[in-house]
Amino acid sequence: MFQKILIANRGEIALRVLRACKELGIQTVVVHSTADADAMHVRLADESVCIGPPPSRDSYLNIHQIVAACEITGADAVHPGYGFLSENAKFADILAAHNITFIGPSGDHIRIMGDKIEAKRTAKRLGIPVVPGSDGAVTDQKEARRIAAEIGYPVIIKASAGGGGRGMKVALTEADLEIALQTASTEAGAAFGDDAVYIEKYLEKPRHIEVQVFGDGFGRGVHFGERDCSLQRRHQKVWEEAPSPALNAEERARIGGICAKAIADLGYSGAGTIEFLYENGEFYFIEMNTRLQVEHPVTEAITGIDLVHEQIRVASGGGLSVKQEDIKFNGHAIECRINAEDPRTFTPSPGTITHFHTPGGLGIRVDSGVYSGYKIPPYYDSLIGKLIVHGRNRVECMMRLRRALDEFVVDGIKTTLPLFRDLVGNADIANGDYDIHWLEKSLAKED
Ligand code: ADP
Repeated sequence: MFQKILIANRGEIALRVLRACKELGIQTVVVHSTADADAMHVRLADESVCIGPPPSRDSYLNIHQIVAACEITGADAVHPGYGFLSENAKFADILAAHNITFIGPSGDHIRIMGDKIEAKRTAKRLGIPVVPGSDGAVTDQKEARRIAAEIGYPVIIKASAGGGGRGMKVALTEADLEIALQTASTEAGAAFGDDAVYIEKYLEKPRHIEVQVFGDGFGRGVHFGERDCSLQRRHQKVWEEAPSPALNAEERARIGGICAKAIADLGYSGAGTIEFLYENGEFYFIEMNTRLQVEHPVTEAITGIDLVHEQIRVASGGGLSVKQEDIKFNGHAIECRINAEDPRTFTPSPGTITHFHTPGGLGIRVDSGVYSGYKIPPYYDSLIGKLIVHGRNRVECMMRLRRALDEFVVDGIKTTLPLFRDLVGNADIANGDYDIHWLEKSLAKED
């Protein structure tokens, strides 16, 4: 087991990982920018190292500073959290070259899944169902027209290097295709330094369903069930739940089994998420994330298993603490992402939190890095906390969520709490009857 882990992140996820390390008796080092000197993760860690000025490219994305911080403090492993360097293959390789363990998969597996065209090809080879579309990158208009006609309109053009919902363009008919291909490719080049794009069938009313998987480091793969993340705004998840209200036990076991086998065949090690769109009873792979996800706590709530403990165990060579047959699903969990944003316009609302009171009681978990008097720096993403609620079934979970949202107080800044108070009272949400476009349509109706 590791003696000392360096946490290369900030905010709620830095604290989340820190808690797991403390429970396992592992010393913790955190890194921080000058803007985060007063952050909670800095206060609670055994040691902290300031790695640079506020902009993330000079601090949380500065590989050399982070490796230096490991060497100064004698950390033997790095947990990257999510975002920042968590899916950076070069970072994983550099750590390995310094004999520091990256708590995550190999650099090669990150590289394959980071390139969406390569990821889709790999998924197909491993027997995972994929969205119909081009086999690789599409550059010329003629080829694009041929493929689009073959799969049928509407189609979506996506950036191979894409992420965070950026670089996607929909073409409803052939008349839109030329401009969609051009703009997607130009935007991808500007945003990711790689203008490769590919074409997929655009699914009109899918749900976003993702499967939590783990490779144990010894060639075995398991799944921890699915999460439904269909409530999205600008392709960003807002509300996540487990299990999905749309799946039955047979579908769950089928897709879970396919994913666990694929992970084993790939020789993957550590936590991963295989993302699908789901429509008319069919699953279509869209991408794999090779890291812990923001929404992992809903899986923890229904399985009772600490996924960060498992990540640390696997990375240290100790394997998983559970086998597939030990993973049982119990009840229902929902997570709300609370952002420092205007709940109508979603513009960021940094500032000082004058009062912060979190709900409590049975089935309530709040993962957050903020406190009363905390000043939110304007440099990073606007997530200030996650409310995760568990109940014996979805009805009890929703009742508890409504009560917890009423108790939650964040004063001094705007947050997305009012949005969730609306959602929890909505009939479609109560019925679990929503797809990936539901939230945007419903927000548009109110304007
Ligand atoms: P990113 O890596 O940028 O998050 P994804 O491939 O995971 O991109 O897609 C993000 C979201 O975009 C999905 O959850 C879904 O809402 C939408 N999307 C992606 N591909 C399709 C598709 N083929 N049809 C319809 N919507 C799609």
